[in-house]
Amino acid sequence: MTTSTSNDMIPEEPRAPHVPRLTRRLTGFLPQEIKSIDNIIPLHCRKVWSKHQVKKFEDNEGFQQRFIGHVETTLARSLYNCDDLAAYEATSLSVRDNLIINWNATQQRITARDPKRVYYLSLEFLMGRALDNALINMEVEKPDGKGMESSRALVSKSLDDLGFRLEDVLEKEPDAALGNGGLGRLAACFVDSMATQNIPAWGYGLRYEYGIFAQKIIDGYQVETPDYWLNFGDPWEIERNEIHVPVTFYGYVDRPSGDTSTLAPSEWIGGERVLAVAYDFPVPGYKTSTVNNLRLWKAKPTTEFDFAKFNSGDYKNSVDQQQRAESITAVLYPNDNFNQGKELRLKQQYFWCAASLHDIIRRFKKSHKPWSEFPEQVAIQLNDTHPTLAVVELQRILVDMEKLDWHAAWDIVVKTFSYTNHTVMQEALEKWPVGLFGKLLPRHLEIIYDVNWFFLKEVEKKFPKDLGLLGRVSIIEEASPERQIRMAFLAIVGSHKVNGVAELHSELIKTTIFQDFVKVYGEKKFTNVTNGITPRRWLKQANPKLAELIGQAIDDPDENYLLDMSRLTELAKKADDPDFQEKWDKVKAANKVQLADLIRDINNGVDIIDREHINNTLFDIQVKRIHEYKRQQMNIFGVIYRYLAIKRLLKEGASIKEVAKKYPRKASIFGGKSAPGYYMAKLIIKLINSVAEVVNNDKEIQDLLKVVFIPDYNVSKAEIIIPASDLSEHISTAGTEASGTSNMKFVMNGGLIIGTVDGANVEITREIGEDNIFLFGNLSENVEELRYNHQFHEAEMPTELDVVLKCIESGKFCPDNASEFRPLTDSIKQHGDYYLVSDDFESYLATQELVDEVYHGQRQEWIKKSILSVANVGFFSSDRCIEEYSETIWNVEPVKPEE
Ligand SMILES: *Cc1c(COP(=O)(O)O)cnc(C)c1O
Repeated sequence: MTTSTSNDMIPEEPRAPHVPRLTRRLTGFLPQEIKSIDNIIPLHCRKVWSKHQVKKFEDNEGFQQRFIGHVETTLARSLYNCDDLAAYEATSLSVRDNLIINWNATQQRITARDPKRVYYLSLEFLMGRALDNALINMEVEKPDGKGMESSRALVSKSLDDLGFRLEDVLEKEPDAALGNGGLGRLAACFVDSMATQNIPAWGYGLRYEYGIFAQKIIDGYQVETPDYWLNFGDPWEIERNEIHVPVTFYGYVDRPSGDTSTLAPSEWIGGERVLAVAYDFPVPGYKTSTVNNLRLWKAKPTTEFDFAKFNSGDYKNSVDQQQRAESITAVLYPNDNFNQGKELRLKQQYFWCAASLHDIIRRFKKSHKPWSEFPEQVAIQLNDTHPTLAVVELQRILVDMEKLDWHAAWDIVVKTFSYTNHTVMQEALEKWPVGLFGKLLPRHLEIIYDVNWFFLKEVEKKFPKDLGLLGRVSIIEEASPERQIRMAFLAIVGSHKVNGVAELHSELIKTTIFQDFVKVYGEKKFTNVTNGITPRRWLKQANPKLAELIGQAIDDPDENYLLDMSRLTELAKKADDPDFQEKWDKVKAANKVQLADLIRDINNGVDIIDREHINNTLFDIQVKRIHEYKRQQMNIFGVIYRYLAIKRLLKEGASIKEVAKKYPRKASIFGGKSAPGYYMAKLIIKLINSVAEVVNNDKEIQDLLKVVFIPDYNVSKAEIIIPASDLSEHISTAGTEASGTSNMKFVMNGGLIIGTVDGANVEITREIGEDNIFLFGNLSENVEELRYNHQFHEAEMPTELDVVLKCIESGKFCPDNASEFRPLTDSIKQHGDYYLVSDDFESYLATQELVDEVYHGQRQEWIKKSILSVANVGFFSSDRCIEEYSETIWNVEPVKPEE
């Protein structure tokens, strides 16, 4: 750190007595009457400090000086052994220096004004790369001194002069892939928008040593390899060894008062203790000097020495136990929308909640306000049920440690928390067996029972005759073989607001899984905040050419529209302009070339997609986690159908030209990871690769159809893939995809969508117009009946699907193991087709035909649809989400930097 005046960055823990008085002063809170830290530091000291105040770089000279400084001292290298990786590290450290200066200023400003703060608790932050994002978001003074501009051009030029290409340097950064998919990426978009809007906000999560596994495809199968993203150290993290919080597990509960009531202040005598150490990541806003903080915790052994073990000669054992501490933050659980119920996962959750709450409370206590004002100072958002233990932990702290009355405490808790639900799927809802839970967190289990008892008493008072209701809303599920804690119910009871993530989903939670809670609490507790994405990363960073073209078109070359995406509506005027359409199409073509390059690199330097015909090939893309509900199987069945249809026409004697009229050039591009234990999803990946093998090597069809599986889909791959799409697929079974966010990313990049009436597709349609989206399939209100029909009636199979399934069963795509894909065909034919592929397949194929007609037959219409979609995508900026959360749920306001 370059200055020590940032009060927020310095721990509260008492120091050893020999630490000089001045330092001790700095570690403490600021008394209320002292508004500035300047007043407590002697003038002569302040003079020395200010003489050496670290300055941001503002020009090429300044950057280069810092860069070389970092190469030669921080990295201990020289001009002669500075490779691209070292250049990446030195660039990042130099840019980080600037961010840290702004970050200290931000924290000082917030500490001084002491406004209500937001804490966004998420077990996943899928951040991707930080350097390019920082270069775009961080401003430097323009060379002419008239205002500010993005620092990207400056750094690019400086690196050029030093003998490096920015593009190569950026490529050296590994993705920070601390998330599975949409939920983790949402958290990343939200922290970007909170910083951009100057919201005093912190993100809290875990610093996994291993993020989501890297996916390799070997012989068509997914193989998981560890993602050790910290291999070369991470220049973006600031390790704060001085900020460490002890966290306890196991043990037993004691009531020193001799009181028998669990409502009385109790003492939890813990068994195992570990330390949570803070790692901070600066989060810069766009066109603002605000830099917020993302704090991730790492587990470390305590330095307490186990004398009992040592004396009994069990030194080795005591060291082993210490080592186990680190396993808590070793690895991210690789499940998307699935609850596995493992003890280590519960340990991760408590470790993270306990450390974060400790930190939040330490900060609150600095201002010496009464506990009753806690909810006026603190809003905590729960990203899904993963952080629900924070609700219980706050109640424990207030009752057991701060000795508040149970009900006064609970009132504070409920006013502080709010909960975002992300799914209605049963297999994804978190439940913990009381046995496992009570062993790890005995006092928390007592508290949950008491919370439930008071809650049920309230329900009983309100609905005295409804006995079934009590069982249905109980936080404790009376299941066999064991009772389970329903975390979603606990999150609802412990929060003042519950939101879904798209309108359809928010309605669905009210009528299905949380129906009884609407009865108990009324409608007003349940609300909607439709998801969004940050246009800085998903437009400017991913698609700089399109961002620039838009800036020119709407007379905003400085790209201020990225802060107010409603201004994109001005684009609509140009939708019919042939000159503009041509420019628009050229950008898309260039992006498709970039993706073709990526695909060539993946394929050992051999092109799969015909270079000659790139702008005449429809890029049809489905990239997202592989899941039966997302229906990649339906997509690949459609590809097989198309392939067989092409083959049939050729066999019937049609020329390739005639065939191309009906089935014009298309590249079907897939990407996504399966959970390692998800058998069916892994089989879908294998089927895609097996189909690719057959189709891509069939000379007869002459490149009319290509199938590509891009391995290891992640944020930085997404930044290349998404801008290159003509069409993307968002085809989940209606009612299963809560929102989806990649649908928004694709639309923002001028891609059209084929999709079901599900999640945010509904609002995307409303915003961009139903003429500009290809919707198909059954509606969510019919899903229940359709499933029922599959179970109790002879289901009829559409002939198109029958042909496809029979072809798969023939072993066409797996000659060495003809029954390999039987589980996939059987799930439709034999096991009730839970995801309703057979019900939607015909309308899917018909809609794909319509897509071909427009893309190949009416290209100008297509481009017009593309322009109009982007013109109306503004609603899906995550800035809008943050405004809605701030105003309707958090009640927080921005703290703007002084002009
Ligand atoms: C946006 C994003 C997702 C979410 O995609 P959906 O199609 O909404 O499920 C998943 N992974 C990555 C890398 C993303 O960027």
